[in-house]
Amino acid sequence: MADEIDGLLGIDQQKHAGWHADSIAVRGYEGIDARTGSISYPLYQSATFAHPAWGQSTGYCYSRCGNPTRLELENTIALLEGGKKAMAFSSGMAAITTLLKLLRAGDHVLVSDDLYGGTYRLFSNIYTQYGLEFDYVDLTDPDVLAASFKPNTRLVFLETPTNPTMKVADVAAVGEAAHAHGAVFAVDNTFLTMYFQKPFELGGDVVIYSGTKYLCGHNDVLSGFLILRDNTLLEPLFNATMSEGNQLDPFDSWLMLRSLKTLGVRLRQQERNAKRIAEALKANPHVTDVFYVGDPDHQNYELSKRQTTGFGAMISFKTDTHERALAVLERTKLILFAESLGGTESLVTYPLVQTHGSIPKPMLDKLGIDDRLLRLSVGIEDIDDLLADLEQALA
Ligand SMILES: *Cc1c(COP(=O)(O)O)cnc(C)c1O
Repeated sequence: MADEIDGLLGIDQQKHAGWHADSIAVRGYEGIDARTGSISYPLYQSATFAHPAWGQSTGYCYSRCGNPTRLELENTIALLEGGKKAMAFSSGMAAITTLLKLLRAGDHVLVSDDLYGGTYRLFSNIYTQYGLEFDYVDLTDPDVLAASFKPNTRLVFLETPTNPTMKVADVAAVGEAAHAHGAVFAVDNTFLTMYFQKPFELGGDVVIYSGTKYLCGHNDVLSGFLILRDNTLLEPLFNATMSEGNQLDPFDSWLMLRSLKTLGVRLRQQERNAKRIAEALKANPHVTDVFYVGDPDHQNYELSKRQTTGFGAMISFKTDTHERALAVLERTKLILFAESLGGTESLVTYPLVQTHGSIPKPMLDKLGIDDRLLRLSVGIEDIDDLLADLEQALA
């Protein structure tokens, strides 16, 4: 199975050496189809592959093991991230569930305390049943981090910026601590993407994505990724996903390749819009708190400037009253009241009952997730229309 062996070797990281991210994203890894010159990489919508003869293979046998369209997507993502190998999954949660196959009963995991509610649910409700142990700690606080390791800590799972309160962790410091304790260091890079943050340059061993968000960018495909810095963890993870069958299907892989071409264009416009919206929210008399990592008053602004090349387009804010928070959800017209983030459409979310509905009350209280907190994912619409929509909703 040449493809499986290719898959296990990872990509040629020198491919397209010298090109910037925007060019790699547009071209892809192999890019145009060698046989026909098709500029759109072909969609191999096939579950199985015929063998030319006994003992011969095209490199493919069955799409759970390998599919050319998915491989092109994985290789493009790996190249963009600066990793050796990427694996594409049917969702972000599918990627995370495969990552946990590195662990065995009795292992301990350190996790960001302020994180995506679905990840919390997967860990707390499902994997504790299989003997894994999780501690949710403030990984943005070096003292808390240092005091949280146990002899059986095997994995540190970091989200930064955090969701939804937008705290920023010192990625390199967390990575150093993880490695000093012999733990694998995994970073969920969904909020900033490789366009703004490169965890491998800061000590990350595995980068995780919900590809549903910015990488897809159009609110139309669920997907997830694991990207590996080198081949150390490749075999167990490849075996896990091949056995579990939770990979991305060919058509969604093709859609994701198409999405990636505009990643930079979208993110730049989204970030530009987000900066303006954060300023407007700060000036609004009915808004008490604004959490945006690109705000020079943000507690971790200097750290962000040091370790990232951009601030992204996620903003959380608190209204003066609970009633006003609900009114915003009802009144916005251009901005849609919906879960998810990262797409061309601006969305407003109510974390308390939506994205963080699975998180226990004491943890929500500690994090400051209350009934006045709203989260905005800023899209690419015209900025004046977005500002007007928010202003009338907050009036
Ligand atoms: C959405 C999200 C996930 C889960 O991804 P799905 O694609 O919805 O399965 C994980 N982490 C973060 C930070 C997310 O925003």
